Amino acid sequence: MKINANVLDRQYFMHQKEYEVKVLDVLRSGYYILGNEVKEFEKEFASYIGSKYCVGLANGLDALWISIKLLGIKEGDEVLVQSNTYIATVMGITMNNATPIFIEPNEFHNMDDSNIESYITPNTKAILVTHLYGQATKMDKILEVCEKYNLKLIEDCAQSHGSMYNKQMTGSIGYVGCFSFYPSKNLGCFGDGGAIVTNDEQFAEKVKTYRNYGSQKRYYNETIGTNSRLDELQAALLRVKLKHINELTQEREQLAQRLLNEVKNPLIELPKVDQDCTHVWHLFVIQTDLRETFMDYLSKHEIQSLIHYPIPPHLQEAYSDLGYKVGDFPVSERLAERVLTIPLYNGMTKEEMDYLIQTINQFKG
Ligand SMILES: *Cc1c(COP(=O)(O)O)cnc(C)c1O
Repeated sequence: MKINANVLDRQYFMHQKEYEVKVLDVLRSGYYILGNEVKEFEKEFASYIGSKYCVGLANGLDALWISIKLLGIKEGDEVLVQSNTYIATVMGITMNNATPIFIEPNEFHNMDDSNIESYITPNTKAILVTHLYGQATKMDKILEVCEKYNLKLIEDCAQSHGSMYNKQMTGSIGYVGCFSFYPSKNLGCFGDGGAIVTNDEQFAEKVKTYRNYGSQKRYYNETIGTNSRLDELQAALLRVKLKHINELTQEREQLAQRLLNEVKNPLIELPKVDQDCTHVWHLFVIQTDLRETFMDYLSKHEIQSLIHYPIPPHLQEAYSDLGYKVGDFPVSERLAERVLTIPLYNGMTKEEMDYLIQTINQFKG
């Protein structure tokens, strides 16, 4: 049996009719950019997250850098960010010429808050938290520190649609939540898409203006902006998927639960979930000292596995200017050598899961 890391069309076929009706609706409507579908999706997504406002954007990276820019963060400013996040999180900071200050992750792959105050300087402007792999970050201490030092809390929710800390949705906890709807994300569209959510009406309006060349009224430009619009087709398809997001999340939870209960192999370390945090299992990430051998073994059994991520941002060539070297962030560096993502996706069959579990359990090193 062949098992891919992700099989995106399964989700499409699950609700095929609904998607196809919507696509034709949009194609026949004559409105393709910033029409009713985007407006309605923004309302529905804000309400799902529990934030007052949502602004649709072209992708998740735009959500990050535009938020950081419109918060006034610029050259000389520092933003705390975890050292094992996806590089886009860090680019959101550096695209604004601000400086990322890396914080090591805890055993849940999220920001370790135990020494967080020691990283704060007079230049610190914000904390950017990534709810990595779909698990909400424990936020109590981070919220406290933001309050104490008057820092803005930005959430990178590109992997955490629907996950909660203390029964509160990620994205609605900080000042601004940044989402991606890239096809493989838990709420993925059929192309690129993104959004921010916030409770600050003025900030939401600023983002709305900025995404459309700095203009609210056509051909009247108040500021210099960019072009970062969620299109009608993607918004319409996202509205369909959003209706089913709870069942899709539940299905991922059930698949993850099977792996957590049934994978029994001393060579494989299973992921853990923190207290008061939920996990929506964007990625199911195990750890092993025998990663290369295990990957080869899986691949021989036609199971695809992926590494999220093999090189932490501070060691990427793109960031050689920051001057970091091997050993500077040992926790992240060790994770980069040990993590492995095994298949978990909506529409995965019982037979596929049976085969995956059995194959992992028979791995002998
Ligand atoms: C996917 C992702 C992004 C970027 O989203 P795009 O829509 O691809 O720009 C940012 N941060 C994290 C953690 C991601 O996983």
